[in-house]
Amino acid sequence: MDPKQMHPETLLAQAGGGIDPQSGGVVPPIQPSTTFARDAGYMPLNPENTYARDHNDAVRQAEQVLCQLEGGAAALLFPTGMAAIAALFRTVPTGGRVVVQSGIYWGTTKWIREFCERRQIVMDEVDASDVTALRDICARAPAHLVWVESPSNPWLKIVDIAAAAEAAKTCGALLAVDSTAASPVLAQPLALGADVVMHSTTKVINGHSDVLGGVLITRKLAPFWNEIANDRASAGAVMGPFEAWLLLRGMRTLPLRVERMCQNAMAIAAYLQDHPRVEAVWYPGLSSHHGHALATRQMSGGYGFLMSVLVKGGREEALCVAGRLGLFHRATSLGGVESLVEHRHTIEPHTGIPENLLRLAIGTENSGDLIADLGQALGH
Ligand SMILES: *Cc1c(COP(=O)(O)O)cnc(C)c1O
Repeated sequence: MDPKQMHPETLLAQAGGGIDPQSGGVVPPIQPSTTFARDAGYMPLNPENTYARDHNDAVRQAEQVLCQLEGGAAALLFPTGMAAIAALFRTVPTGGRVVVQSGIYWGTTKWIREFCERRQIVMDEVDASDVTALRDICARAPAHLVWVESPSNPWLKIVDIAAAAEAAKTCGALLAVDSTAASPVLAQPLALGADVVMHSTTKVINGHSDVLGGVLITRKLAPFWNEIANDRASAGAVMGPFEAWLLLRGMRTLPLRVERMCQNAMAIAAYLQDHPRVEAVWYPGLSSHHGHALATRQMSGGYGFLMSVLVKGGREEALCVAGRLGLFHRATSLGGVESLVEHRHTIEPHTGIPENLLRLAIGTENSGDLIADLGQALGH
């Protein structure tokens, strides 16, 4: 069957291709060689491979799968999500302008702020879940890049990607979407008009909290894309063969994991919403969530595995609940099979994040066990 005709589950279950012709293995081999031989006439034995900085079969296989999942024209893997983000922003010229959603992944905001200062790039931050505000700020002056994140981490805001694409067009900018918290299973930003989609593959795409990685996928081949590909090859921010192989292995179960995590998250959000010790639950699957209708339109198969819970009381009460959890590990990150809890204010005290907020990254455990753990931690 032509991979282009496969449904995502089928494509992913066999990620990395069919039978390895050399060994007959049903999984791809790992080729760690950094360099590749030439024949007596000095032609590469394999025309695709001369040196591993830019030529790695496992990286190409993983890129192909991710590209097809997002319906893009090309994909590029990077050693981390941040390296992917940085590669895209480096295409913005000195003195340029970018529009960036406020209240997103703190590592992204921090890096972009510092980068823009170094490059004399104007950076306008805006709550992009407010379409009017986004339109207004885009219309103010020409820009090179509009950056949004949906659902956003840890505020769980939903951005109307089709409307953001229109807004970006009015100022001549590319729209890039960090879709890490949605995964390629639940959302398809390129189909809604985004120019570039980015994932931290460290999170649910690999899914086992054991490989760092990031990916950019473009809707169209264009000069900015060649610039990124060229810079990756020359500057060398590449993923290694072992990481790419592990990523392919992790991706094979992506749809199953996402399905289970979304079901768990929905059950947990519903439970917490009614809990007397909980002030609020931010989860797009709840009808009380301000972005629920939009998320229902824009996502399919679930609302993700990330939520924020505001514990009644303040910092002490929230930290007490986190401290009493037994199944949830107290650690940063999301998208792994194991559930995690994080007191975000400890990590980003200057961003206006509520002191009583706990971010939950729901895993694939039994939802009853997770709910029981939350119940004992919250007390009655
Ligand atoms: C983790 C994360 C990143 C950064 O990815 P790394 O792989 O940790 O560099 C970017 N965006 C979001 C939404 C993330 O969760």
